[in-house]
Amino acid sequence: MKKFLEVFGFFWQLPATIICWLFYIIPLYIAGDIEFKKWESFGVATWTLESKKSWYARLWRDFWGWYGPCNIIMRTAKHIIDADAHDYWSDHLRNEIEIELKKTLLHELRHHFQACICGPLFYPIYGIIYIIMKIVSEDAYRDHPFEKDARNAEKRG
Ligand SMILES: [Zn+2]
Repeated sequence: MKKFLEVFGFFWQLPATIICWLFYIIPLYIAGDIEFKKWESFGVATWTLESKKSWYARLWRDFWGWYGPCNIIMRTAKHIIDADAHDYWSDHLRNEIEIELKKTLLHELRHHFQACICGPLFYPIYGIIYIIMKIVSEDAYRDHPFEKDARNAEKRG
């Protein structure tokens, strides 16, 4: 069933994916802000954030990773801490960051699963719910049902 949803979802959100590739992924790749990592699951490309100083890196500096149609961009340990540091605390910190990055990937893959169901309506639905949560909740992001579902996916592993 999950495989079927992935294939169905790939085609369901293909118009949004094409726009994402043309106007988001390819320009960021050409600018050197992101680098291809691997195909994570059917049709889902994962990228790492490479630039530390671009407008794009500054825009997302508070996030570990983010999802776009069939694309996930992740920060890396070397992006978060100084890659040349080799002491106990930086090694310890690097391990903690790797654990957090694994959880983030599961989180973003869950957003992909949600997008497979919602297709090109994923962002409009997400946005409408977000506006409603802004009215009824103290923290619209934390209490958003899509985010709660993605955090549960992190815990399930
Ligand atoms: Zn999320």
